[in-house]
Amino acid sequence: MQTRFTAEQLGDPAVADCERNLRACVHCGFCLATCPTYTLLGDELDSPRGRIYLIKDMLEHDRPASAEVALHVDRCLSCLACQTTCPSGVHYQHLIDHARAHVEKTFTRPLLDRVLRDVLARLLPYPGRFRLALRLAGLARPFRGLLKGRLGAMLALAPARLPRQDAAFAGEIFPAVGPRRGRVALLTGCAQKVIAPSINEATIRLLTRHGVEVVVPPASGCCGAIVHHMGKAEQARALAVDTIRAWGDEAAARGLDAIVVNTSGCGTEIKDYGHIFREDPVWAEPAARVSALTRDISEYLAEIGLAEIGLKPPESAAGLTVAYHAACSLQHGQKVISQPKALLAAAGFTVRDVPEGHLCCGSAGTYNLLQPEIAEQLKARKLANIARTKPDVIATGNVGCITQLAGDAGIPVLHTVELLDWATGGPKPEALSGKI
Ligand code: SF4
Ligand code: SF4
Repeated sequence: MQTRFTAEQLGDPAVADCERNLRACVHCGFCLATCPTYTLLGDELDSPRGRIYLIKDMLEHDRPASAEVALHVDRCLSCLACQTTCPSGVHYQHLIDHARAHVEKTFTRPLLDRVLRDVLARLLPYPGRFRLALRLAGLARPFRGLLKGRLGAMLALAPARLPRQDAAFAGEIFPAVGPRRGRVALLTGCAQKVIAPSINEATIRLLTRHGVEVVVPPASGCCGAIVHHMGKAEQARALAVDTIRAWGDEAAARGLDAIVVNTSGCGTEIKDYGHIFREDPVWAEPAARVSALTRDISEYLAEIGLAEIGLKPPESAAGLTVAYHAACSLQHGQKVISQPKALLAAAGFTVRDVPEGHLCCGSAGTYNLLQPEIAEQLKARKLANIARTKPDVIATGNVGCITQLAGDAGIPVLHTVELLDWATGGPKPEALSGKI
């Protein structure tokens, strides 16, 4: 694509990066077929190519975002299916991240929209506040039928019962059982530790049982992904710096083989820290080191050879059919595709791919809260596709997808590590009790 940026504009490294990506786009349109919003809405401006045109026009003319640009950028799920499909190597993630930040900075949203986004950004990254908000939402849940739109969607997604308080993992070291084959830091996350602390517990049991020491650095918290996807670049940067500092200190003091992440949305963000901080005189190098060390949990388990040689013999998985729902951030953002399925199969499960597996389930960070109509349609389509595989349970690698699907799935929805942990000697996941 031809671009007309001035030399002065290209002096800004963020704009120069966008320009490289815009020039790489050859308008072929291959990405349209795999874009969930184009598939549903059929509007070119809700396709990757259409959004690329809007972003190009806005940046080239140094214009504040218009209502039209904000609408179509907001409707993008950041699922990155387009990035997987693009034959020209357009790094859509970097383009849309920059566009979201530009919209946030230059567009004045309607008051309610602004308030809602600010409230979410002040709650979600902070587990104490988020827990309190969910408790209040629990009180309002019986009235959710009276509320339409975003507020109704929020109440519908709030769990009916909050799990018990997350164990205080921060600062703890969990020693390997038997000979040590690795030492990793675990991101215990922000929203996940409130909604589903069982995922971190299963991860720690699974890793230590297979000879991996796990440390949770004292000061690591939210990685910043959730607010970054809302265009709140400064807040995301501050959260990322805290995370980089916490892991950098641990790696320097005692050594780390990997930073293990079990929320794939976060993993995609952390693997991109090297890019985000590339021009930062202080954080560029530490950020790049953190990105290079980061692995999705399934990726790490596969790397140390568990699927082939080391998985403890299955004790309880036999006979269960698992529909594997590939989270977008894992399959498109990190290109981790075969490992979770290979691990589940090695643990004794019968694994089924979901038809139209490239399509997002509608979760996408805060998308199901901010764009509930589109998110609902995507969820319905995903669940219909899952049902075609006739599974006993659904497995996925991202807590957002679990929350999105669980309410209407009719069968248990679990994290991949919960099934692997159970199959190799861990307790039966609570979601399965009384059902399997
Ligand atoms: S990230 Fe997903 S929703 Fe956004 S343009 Fe790409 S394919 Fe479409
Ligand atoms: S597939 Fe890639 S090159 Fe083709 S229109 Fe989409 S973004 Fe542009």
